[in-house]
Amino acid sequence: MTKINRRTFLKLLPTVPFAKVAWPAVETAVNNTINPAQSSDQPNILFLVFDTLTAQHMSLYGYNRETTPHMARFAEKSTVFHKHVAGGNFTSPGTSTLMTGTYPWTHRAIQLHGLVHNEFVQKNIFSQMPDNYHTVAYTHNLLVMSLLHQFRGDLDLFKKTRELCLSDGQFSDRLFFDDYTHAFWAETTALQGGATPPGALFLSLLDRFANFAETRGFEQELAELYPRGVPNLHTLSFLLEDAIDWIEEQVVTMPQPFMGYFHLLPPHEPYTPRAEFIDIFTDGWQPTEKPKLFGSQHMPQAALNRERRLYDEFIAFTDAEFGRLMDNLEQQGVFENTYIVLTSDHGELFERGIRGHVTLTLYEGLNHLPLVIHKPGQQSREDVFQRTTAADILPTLMQLTGQSVPDWCEGAVLPTFGGAEAPEDRFVYAVEAKSNPKYAALTEATVAMYQDDMKLIRYFGYTDDDKYELYNLKDDPEELNNIYESEKGLTDDLTTALKDKIFAENAPYRGE
Ligand SMILES: [Zn+2]
Repeated sequence: MTKINRRTFLKLLPTVPFAKVAWPAVETAVNNTINPAQSSDQPNILFLVFDTLTAQHMSLYGYNRETTPHMARFAEKSTVFHKHVAGGNFTSPGTSTLMTGTYPWTHRAIQLHGLVHNEFVQKNIFSQMPDNYHTVAYTHNLLVMSLLHQFRGDLDLFKKTRELCLSDGQFSDRLFFDDYTHAFWAETTALQGGATPPGALFLSLLDRFANFAETRGFEQELAELYPRGVPNLHTLSFLLEDAIDWIEEQVVTMPQPFMGYFHLLPPHEPYTPRAEFIDIFTDGWQPTEKPKLFGSQHMPQAALNRERRLYDEFIAFTDAEFGRLMDNLEQQGVFENTYIVLTSDHGELFERGIRGHVTLTLYEGLNHLPLVIHKPGQQSREDVFQRTTAADILPTLMQLTGQSVPDWCEGAVLPTFGGAEAPEDRFVYAVEAKSNPKYAALTEATVAMYQDDMKLIRYFGYTDDDKYELYNLKDDPEELNNIYESEKGLTDDLTTALKDKIFAENAPYRGE
């Protein structure tokens, strides 16, 4: 196995044509006056969201491969939430639940590249921060970029995706930033052979093809370091290391108190770790094959197992970069005055013939998220076993900045943060509705409802009959044994509760 250390890596970097691809920083530049860490009494808040990171594959949460030793180190000075649930199974709904404190049936970012309902432009983790907080956000993920674009009025620094990428292949944000999301769709459609794009966009596409050879150029430069390809998604290529370096710099130079939201793509597919993580999990492990039920797909189990291994390696790479960032922040004293939140937007699945997260199912690989929060000065580990949801993040932010929780929130303040504790028997939800019309009652969707360790899944509108699964996650964390038919009394109560809830959430769209 080739070992490439950080120094070798840095030596390679200057060969990459950053200047050619970098977006001029003019538009997003702010006066970054240097404020030492101790200048503010109010705590900073730092979100690190790693896209597509399921707790089910993290050794920190008991996974049998050692994927997250550095996150486990971080956990030793943090509060670890063991039963944290995503809002949805892909980026737009999952991230929107985190950012708005509401479930997908409320925020309505239910479709691919979905935006939140207009009312949430004023109701999100950025708009709710006290005025003296400096707010900053960056993401590699263009779906999150669309959401941040919606919230940009409340961002002091909105760093564009392209600014920390080697190549982004996108022109919408350069040419049509005010209308970013529409332009993005126009560009994407044009590339797929759809409608003729407007003139300026057409020229930009020609420009893109002219740059194609150059793009391949940096891939060759980095081929030894990234044997499976430079981290990328669709037209985007980037180095996680660059984003980590930039965050390190921002955290100690930006005005304080700050609230920073950084949403990084790894370990989202394609799984392309640095060389030293290739083949670290060639253990021959054959995970248990799970029953195929409604929504299952057709990838053979051997292929799923191979893909799982590649994903696990990419997690280990992501974990190492997270560890590098944490070591740096701890040395800089940031741990003393900053809440550091490690989480994700949704997970990934390698079971029942399904690989990835483009699915109508809501199994634990998709829903079970890491949530680890370091509180300023925290020196020892705390563990929380109550069921929590991504919708709890915004209320918690309100609590720790001394504000009351708004009544439109569907989450509650997280345990150990003070405030009124959510009842142990409360229901927590995850919603998948990408085939449902955006502003209409949910009639074709999947909803998972949790009450502590009981989990009911309802599939409705896909076929003539509703489909249900019920799991007791305490006894059966792998969801091998659907007890919907055998636990009749419990099943009836939970099914009624879930149907009533969906009926109530649909009320605004029935014209009532
Ligand atoms: Zn995502």
